[in-house]
Amino acid sequence: MRALVFHGPWDLTVEDRPEPEPGPGDVLLDILTTGICGSDLHGYTGATGRRHPGQVMGHETVARVLEDRTGTHPAGGLLTVNPVLGCRRCPACDAGTPQRCPDRRVIGVQPEISAAFAERMVAPAHNVVPLPPGTPPDVGSLVEPLAVGYHAVQRAGLTAGDTVLVIGGGPIGQAAALAARRLGAAAITILELDATRRALAARLGFTAAAPADRTPLATVVVDAAGTSASLESALGRAAQGARIVLVGMGAPRVEMSAYAISTEERSLLGSFSYDEAAFRDTAAWAAGHAAELETLVDARVGLAEAPATFRALADQTLKAAKVLVSLS
Ligand SMILES: [Zn+2]
Ligand SMILES: [Zn+2]
Repeated sequence: MRALVFHGPWDLTVEDRPEPEPGPGDVLLDILTTGICGSDLHGYTGATGRRHPGQVMGHETVARVLEDRTGTHPAGGLLTVNPVLGCRRCPACDAGTPQRCPDRRVIGVQPEISAAFAERMVAPAHNVVPLPPGTPPDVGSLVEPLAVGYHAVQRAGLTAGDTVLVIGGGPIGQAAALAARRLGAAAITILELDATRRALAARLGFTAAAPADRTPLATVVVDAAGTSASLESALGRAAQGARIVLVGMGAPRVEMSAYAISTEERSLLGSFSYDEAAFRDTAAWAAGHAAELETLVDARVGLAEAPATFRALADQTLKAAKVLVSLS
């Protein structure tokens, strides 16, 4: 089968790879579409070191069932895949929170696991999430980033009365804002440097603010950038007692005002990926909001164009928040 293989920084090629072999608990999948994630781009440039030479990336995917060794999912069924693989034996996994499993692995990150920038992949039947018949397939590729945003606002314990500020208007920021609206928040502002992304935020019905703009004091801030500068913005625009969720991974270390946390009694919460319920709930919600979610997709390319597309996204000659790679 054809697959997109990472050979090192700025080096991706389309090549033939052996067909993946499903084990007893696995489903063999015919991949339709896989989204390019910011984390794939950071791995591609070598910025994070979280991708390994020789591996296939890809974790935002939609597929059809070719064969299910467990007999649970009928052949031809449309589905998406929760890429967070827990050990299934520890308290975190038992609680449906494999993102907290000490032996957590992620499809498209660990090189030994079958991943989604390929014509076919295998995944544990446990991680396969069916989509209702008739769901436009692209929506399946958006479930993963949407679930990241949903989990982030859940971490804040968001309620309808909250005033929400999202820092960063890329896919995770958009997802957090959509999730905040889904949970009933009325006042949602996206703070974003780039005018194109601010325009998208406005099209989605949110208040779009530039860094120089004043914003209402927020009771919930989602930092989808994750740098010292973004955390400083978060603290400067947060009400006393506010909850600040750190979900962006822009820098491995940050500096921030300790007193802005302690003396104003703000809470700083970490958020990573999603739990199993958040992923499933997001899949069901996304399937019912396909038309609205179409606006999140900037471009679609074929597998042959994927290496050039990664390069253009990484060197920013292509300005796009979400590009989908078609593998069918
Ligand atoms: Zn992702
Ligand atoms: Zn576990």
